[in-house]
Amino acid sequence: MKIDNCLKVIEKSHKYTMKNFEYFPLAVKEAKGSIITDLDDNKFIDFLSSASTLNLGSSHPVIVKAVKDQLDKFSQYVIAYVWIEEAAEYARLITSVYPGGIKTKIAYTNSGSEANDAAIKYSRAFTKRSKIIAFINSYHGTTYGSMSISGCTTLMRDKMGPFLPDVYLFPFYGNDVSDEVAEKESTKQIEEAFEKYIPANEVAAVIIELVQGDAGILPAHPIFIKKLYNLCKKNGILFIVDDVQQGFFRTGKMFSCENYDIIPDGMTLGKSFGSGIYGSCFIAREEIIDTFGSPGHVSTYAGTAVSCAAGIAAFGVYYSKEFQELLASNIKLIEKLEKELKEKQPDYIKTVRGLGMSRGIVINDKGDKNMTYKIIFRCYEKGLLVISIGGNVLRIQPPLNITPELLEKGYNIINEAIEDYKNGKISDDVLKYKSTW
Ligand code: PMP
Repeated sequence: MKIDNCLKVIEKSHKYTMKNFEYFPLAVKEAKGSIITDLDDNKFIDFLSSASTLNLGSSHPVIVKAVKDQLDKFSQYVIAYVWIEEAAEYARLITSVYPGGIKTKIAYTNSGSEANDAAIKYSRAFTKRSKIIAFINSYHGTTYGSMSISGCTTLMRDKMGPFLPDVYLFPFYGNDVSDEVAEKESTKQIEEAFEKYIPANEVAAVIIELVQGDAGILPAHPIFIKKLYNLCKKNGILFIVDDVQQGFFRTGKMFSCENYDIIPDGMTLGKSFGSGIYGSCFIAREEIIDTFGSPGHVSTYAGTAVSCAAGIAAFGVYYSKEFQELLASNIKLIEKLEKELKEKQPDYIKTVRGLGMSRGIVINDKGDKNMTYKIIFRCYEKGLLVISIGGNVLRIQPPLNITPELLEKGYNIINEAIEDYKNGKISDDVLKYKSTW
């Protein structure tokens, strides 16, 4: 495989940009639908969707047209000072599908991190309480606020403190525990804390991912969520869902909370919010968003016209019959494929899990810390872009509208990569590219 042009870009990046993760030497030349082409014309099936920012795949024609049309009119004009139809319309569309039909409004932001900062700000101001509860293994972002409520690696905190005060992280209970454990244990520590050291009436919000992405695509146990939700209701605590990674049908539903029997007070949305153009928001009950007068929360680029235009166009695609049918059949297929993969590799796959098109394949690395990396590197060499997350979990988040053929091909490649590992065919040489979590 020739990668000369990719290596040149990597060398230049090392020279001029900050240090980043490195999984494999892939520099993108072009991406269309579910196929990425690198600068040396190698092609890859996309099982990452640019970290779930491209739920409709790369350069979807409807999105491209909407963006081009918008650019022809105007790209952006700051909504702190003027009104923009695109920003108003996109907010109307998203609030119209908020679960439970409750009246919500949107505060526009630029990134997932910033949306979570907004959630903290609004929750504190609305409740007039300061404390925030979040969860171990969560990832909420990289600004000081969002980082303060994250708990997945000290590498994100090293040398950077102090962080936001009054934040408490508790264990997250995934659907990998039994109903009995979830019933007995899942909110025990929080309840104990409410009795002994955190007055519940000082807690503004619980902020939670219903599928913890960076924990390795781990859906919350429904009993845990129900208990936590009830605890919040009982104590006047806002229940906020971070849907940055799982929103926009990633879990099969527009919002991940639709898989659980709850209606959050607010949600943060990002990643696929602008279908490949950056943008995000905090959406919450009307009275929460009405808390601030201006300039309680403004940002020059928030609600960018071009991002909202892309989002509006994507909305039409998401709610089309054709897309919904493909999504439903892709979810069935992906569940079948991962079940078959696990059956083929019982010694190398511990478990498979997820919701909708957000899946994790938990590798049984038997103490070989490089095994998961070697598998993803071999996948790359065979033309599949997949990364690991949460240590030994393959992160499977293809575009939701990927063709069944590419989905099957991708899973076959994963199986072949595991076979190659098994047969000692992946040498330690590949580790030279490794700089991951
Ligand atoms: N929340 C979740 C659940 C995320 O997965 C991410 C990004 N990985 C963020 C927030 C932060 O989003 P951004 O990188 O756009 O700031």
